Amino acid sequence: MQNANSCKKPMGRLPKVAIWVVSIIVVVVLAAFVFQKQIFTFMATKIIQQRLLSQTYKKDDGLYAGLAGTGAPFADINRVGPCIVVEAGNNLYIIDGGPGSARNIGLMGFDIGKVNAILLTHFHSDHIADLGEMMLQRWAGGSNAKPVDVIGPKGVETVVEGFNHAYSLDAGYRVAFHGAAAVPPSGAGGRARPFGLSSEEDASIVVVYKEGVKITAFKVNHYPAYPAVGYRVDYKGRSLVISGDTVPCQSLKKQAQGVDVLFHEAQQPALIKMIHDQAGLSSSPSLAKITADIPGYHTSPENAAKIANETNVKQLVLYHILPPIPPVFNHMFLGDAAKYYKGPITVGVDGLLISLPVNSKDIIFHQTVVLRGIL
Ligand SMILES: [Zn+2]
Ligand SMILES: [Zn+2]
Repeated sequence: MQNANSCKKPMGRLPKVAIWVVSIIVVVVLAAFVFQKQIFTFMATKIIQQRLLSQTYKKDDGLYAGLAGTGAPFADINRVGPCIVVEAGNNLYIIDGGPGSARNIGLMGFDIGKVNAILLTHFHSDHIADLGEMMLQRWAGGSNAKPVDVIGPKGVETVVEGFNHAYSLDAGYRVAFHGAAAVPPSGAGGRARPFGLSSEEDASIVVVYKEGVKITAFKVNHYPAYPAVGYRVDYKGRSLVISGDTVPCQSLKKQAQGVDVLFHEAQQPALIKMIHDQAGLSSSPSLAKITADIPGYHTSPENAAKIANETNVKQLVLYHILPPIPPVFNHMFLGDAAKYYKGPITVGVDGLLISLPVNSKDIIFHQTVVLRGIL
């Protein structure tokens, strides 16, 4: 009997607790249903405020590099096409416009309406596909009355002319709808600013020199994509180099000597070979051919590490990641890179912001956008 009584007490309390829990849940659900409009309005207002605040956030003086796109032509859940945003003082530049990168620029909190110029490394589609969106957002986002300068090696005129033509109808619709004050017709599109390079293998030219920001274009080797360039950015004693697409080349080594951060493209041949082998087995001849070809005009992580070591850079960041890999495979992607460079190596992902404050040797990393694929 005692056993039976002792079992009854908790059995008696349980329904009471359950009734209370269920009642509270019902009240919360009912309240959420009745006040859903107010709740979602509150949440939406907070998100809008956060977005607007991030665009007006005043950073300390320094050189900033935002990885708006760290991928390559293959689809990658963590990476859109190559694009690096460079901010220094009140000046904002975009290096390359890979597909999807214009949206990441906004997500990262950069104000694309304030972009001074877009610089292209070469004209492969994975580096130019978002140029139209960038020119549009820079125009409409800042009510700019002058087209944005698009700086690049010879051939940039053809690319800009094509995008201007393709977006001309869209521009007309927007002026008709929003009015010339909001979107001045004269500011639509881009203005090509081609530069020439001498015939020397290590030829370079300063293409931007403004308020302490110096950007130097230099030849790289991405044949048959010719001319192709990388860019070096200097600002108040801080510096970085962006390789563009290239095999290892002397001109990049010359420009990268001692810089704070080297952003180097990287392709792991061992992983590309795995794709090539599987493509062969699954009867995908075009993929098999492409994966057989591409090691010939890119740089392996090991070779990028050797370059970082030879040039004594402070930090190596790999981007233009080929093949697309989730972070859990980073060690396979890097291969033996750590053998050749003892400094820090980062496998880039979209949303990474790197700060180089002036009067400092600090290199600060901040992930501004959450990865879409966890593994
Ligand atoms: Zn390329
Ligand atoms: Zn590329």
